[in-house]
Amino acid sequence: MQSTNIKRKKRLRNILFISFMICFLLIVRVGTIQFIQGSELQAMAYSQQTLNRKINPKRGTIYDSTGKNILAVSASVETISVTPNNIKEEDKEKVARAMSDIFELDYETVLKKVNKNSSIETIVKKVEKEDADKLRIWMKENNIITGINIDEDTKRYYPYATLASHIIGFTGSDNQGLEGIESRYDDILKGSTGKILKLTDATGTDLGEEGEDYISAVDGNDLILSIDMTIQSIAEKYLKEACIDNKCTDGGNIIITNPKTGDILAMAGYPNYDLNNPYQINTDELSYVWDSLSSSEKSTELQQMWRNKAISDTYEPGSVFKLVTASTALEEGLTDTDNQGEFSCTGSINIAGTRIKCWRYYRPHGSQSLRQALMNSCNPVFIGLRSKNRSREIL
Ligand SMILES: [Zn+2]
Repeated sequence: MQSTNIKRKKRLRNILFISFMICFLLIVRVGTIQFIQGSELQAMAYSQQTLNRKINPKRGTIYDSTGKNILAVSASVETISVTPNNIKEEDKEKVARAMSDIFELDYETVLKKVNKNSSIETIVKKVEKEDADKLRIWMKENNIITGINIDEDTKRYYPYATLASHIIGFTGSDNQGLEGIESRYDDILKGSTGKILKLTDATGTDLGEEGEDYISAVDGNDLILSIDMTIQSIAEKYLKEACIDNKCTDGGNIIITNPKTGDILAMAGYPNYDLNNPYQINTDELSYVWDSLSSSEKSTELQQMWRNKAISDTYEPGSVFKLVTASTALEEGLTDTDNQGEFSCTGSINIAGTRIKCWRYYRPHGSQSLRQALMNSCNPVFIGLRSKNRSREIL
């Protein structure tokens, strides 16, 4: 009798001990979840329960120096996405068919996205409002009110297409600046993105109106360049003519500055490219061989096409510097513009034992005034001008 009592007591103690251990382990587990993994799990739950759709801000406009001519502007377009779990199973094929018809997309690809088990799938970016309206009408007619999102977006347009292309640059599919001013001043132009936050359950299904939160986008700032559109177009027109006439295979550049302020009024590069289609090749030679190039060669060629050579490449000024020598000589009163026969070109000149040739050594320029020497870009005359200054220093 007594031994059964002892046995029962022993069993009770064991059960008590096991229960205590289980309780203890559970408390430890709860503590870990609450205090150690708490914030991480909360963030995971938040991202699962909220459906985050972006509202893109309107990017700032780029104007020329007059403040009137628009060089780059953003227009409103729309981006279409779906929340697959909010589309009824029996409607899925119908939705995919309608979307592929309206936006001219591949049906199978759209269907795959509509059937995906994810909270949001982008169907097509940057569509015109009239196409998005077709979808709105279709949704109404077919009584489909959830699962399809039509969100405001913007698209960049360059009204003058190729004008000042190397200066302005262009943007990518997420409206981010990729080249030129668009890239350099991206922070000023881009603005800040807004959000539509929706509370959903674990499958991405809406939890009703009260869970919706709308944070509006802040538009970007405008930019006014020192470039004057009229001067820029004249520079581009004559640069193109000169490059074609003189068969400049490397292209050419012109920079026009305001001598009083140093402002750059025009910066032309040839060949330029179409800012509205920045991935389209700009020369015939290149488009013939384009398909045979590897992807890294293509990328190099595109970089080359977008490059603003006027400020990115080094160039030996050479004869351009004759302007500086001539201006200095005039300012110092060493010569005048039209002193007939003041200088003479014999095809070359000796400087410290080295013979420096005129570019037209085979038929020397002969008697020259400063104006003629500049027009002919005659080397011996300008070297002579320098020694004229030297002799004055010695006197
Ligand atoms: Zn000469």
